[in-house]
Amino acid sequence: MGSGDDVKKVMSRRDFFKGTSVALAGVAVASVLPTKSNAGDLPAAYAEPKCSGWSWEKPVKKIGKNEIVKVVDSDVVVIGAGLAGVVAALSAAEQGASVQLIEKNNSWAARGGHIAAFGSKLQKQIGVKPDYRQIIRAWVAWAQGRVDEKLLWDFAHKSGACMDWMMDICKKNGLSAALWEGYYKGPDYTEYPVTHFFHEAGANLAYVNGSTKGVGNIILLPVLEKTAKEKGVVFNYKTPAAQILREQDGRVTGVIAGKKGHYTQYNAKNGVIIATGDYASNKEMVQRYSPFSLRADAQIYFPNKCNTGDGMAMAMQIGGSMQKHEPHAAVIHLEAGAASYGFLHVNANGERFKNEDVNTQSKSCTKELQPHGIAWSIYDRDWAEQVKQQVDSNTAGGLFYGQTFQPWGQGWDIKMEKATQQVHLQQGKIVEAGSIEELARKMDVPVENLKKTIKRYNELHEMQDDPDYGKRSQLLTKINKPPYYAGKLQSTVLTMCGGLHTDSSLLVLDKDDRPIEGLYVAGSAQGDFFANDYPTICPGIGHGRCLTFGRMAGIKAAGGDVDKLIPSLKM
Ligand SMILES: Cc1cc2nc3c(=O)[nH]c(=O)nc-3n(C[C@H](O)[C@H](O)[C@H](O)COP(=O)(O)OP(=O)(O)OC[C@H]3O[C@@H](n4cnc5c(N)ncnc54)[C@H](O)[C@@H]3O)c2cc1C
Repeated sequence: MGSGDDVKKVMSRRDFFKGTSVALAGVAVASVLPTKSNAGDLPAAYAEPKCSGWSWEKPVKKIGKNEIVKVVDSDVVVIGAGLAGVVAALSAAEQGASVQLIEKNNSWAARGGHIAAFGSKLQKQIGVKPDYRQIIRAWVAWAQGRVDEKLLWDFAHKSGACMDWMMDICKKNGLSAALWEGYYKGPDYTEYPVTHFFHEAGANLAYVNGSTKGVGNIILLPVLEKTAKEKGVVFNYKTPAAQILREQDGRVTGVIAGKKGHYTQYNAKNGVIIATGDYASNKEMVQRYSPFSLRADAQIYFPNKCNTGDGMAMAMQIGGSMQKHEPHAAVIHLEAGAASYGFLHVNANGERFKNEDVNTQSKSCTKELQPHGIAWSIYDRDWAEQVKQQVDSNTAGGLFYGQTFQPWGQGWDIKMEKATQQVHLQQGKIVEAGSIEELARKMDVPVENLKKTIKRYNELHEMQDDPDYGKRSQLLTKINKPPYYAGKLQSTVLTMCGGLHTDSSLLVLDKDDRPIEGLYVAGSAQGDFFANDYPTICPGIGHGRCLTFGRMAGIKAAGGDVDKLIPSLKM
């Protein structure tokens, strides 16, 4: 199902484990460099959109009884051992259900580490209490209402208790939770302090070299797997799900999985939970549901290319439908070189084109609209002091790559950020020059245009006013002290944000909004939660929903009462 040609380097097993430890939202690793060599070259799939005949629409021949070598009975079957699937399996097992988890790879899946939750005991302990109702209102506005608002409120009410549950499990296994303080604090674009991450005691949280040990989801998943196994969950690795079993227009009864011709039929008395992740590595699905995403410079995922939309295709083949709102949003972040600073941005013509006081997602998408999809972020010798001043005065912030795991109360570390820049310079992600002319040549932009643009930007700084693009005066910085730096903005697709049509029952719905009994969905296979754009106002919401809805789906599939078992946050 997956496409095979859009990431230059096929990742080895070593890379995969490295990737799981190092990759964070917004931090693409060096081994997956842009696929567009020449400006303006679009992937063929973008240039030639097709309108019908999608592979998942074609009738599928049912797997015959003669191809099934084994039948396994259980209460709940979970497909996919990512965060959503393992949380769902463990939550179902805690309710006494017998659970079979089937996973096509030879291990669980993890990447990044930011996890959003509202009102956890950690937030209470630190004394952080943002206006949670305001966050949901802002999120609905971000999506322009094209989501199931009840799902958003379920997240708001239940995510804190789900985080507490996970913190307890982690504590028993020697992991600590921290709240991330590196969020963006601007008055126009604002992020909220809802982002948690887990780390081992004494772990070095610096991310200067694009890797770290003892922090993030790579240390969380083994703990969840171990706990789930202790509760009786059976992990079936190297077992790809092939077909979901549904009685004629009725309930889902199980899954057929395993090797072609030698399948196992996993019967599920109570229900099947789809937790197979998104479809960003399936170019056909991206073309169908989110063609703009094909313009990004690169696409990465760990384990490599496992997010091929299998769960969605299998559900659609038995009557499930995708969310109604299209095109789907996508997580498209900036690659590390240019960080997410609010400095001057210029395009391939050396001209400014935007107010840079926005989130990383907005920057990476806007630059795709520029000539040849090229843009640069430009700053001078004083850059780090300028960023520090903005961060310390709570006027900005962002994804700072060296301190992606900046714990609450530690402060923004200027030395760490400078060290990260040095690494990016060595990697060629940033160019350095002694003059603007030299910088322009290194960037391959017209020298005179760049000089004119920088002159104008310096005038705006003098005026402390930006009539051209309306940027806040606090973020206007002068560019007049060599060395000068330019970081190339590289857009990278992490995950797609659309998925299977559902509502707060977490059952997959058909195109007429009727639930398919016994078929649940959780994690990034789930739709109706995001629209238009990934709401970076809530950093870590991708993992946050895996935790919250994974737990809710597991409890529901086991027949438990979510409202009794997951206390609601009083807002
Ligand atoms: C580099 C990177 C960094 C990220 N960092 C963050 C972050 O810090 N915070 C955040 O909120 N989000 C982050 N994200 C996004 C986030 O990781 C995902 O949205 C989320 O983890 C998805 O979890 P999941 O359990 O739904 O799916 P996955 O983690 O993709 O798990 C799905 C599993 O299902 C398996 N599977 C698929 N098809 C089948 C099949 N047919 N049979 C059996 N098994 C199957 C897959 O192999 C996989 O193991 C990041 C994404 C990337 C790419």
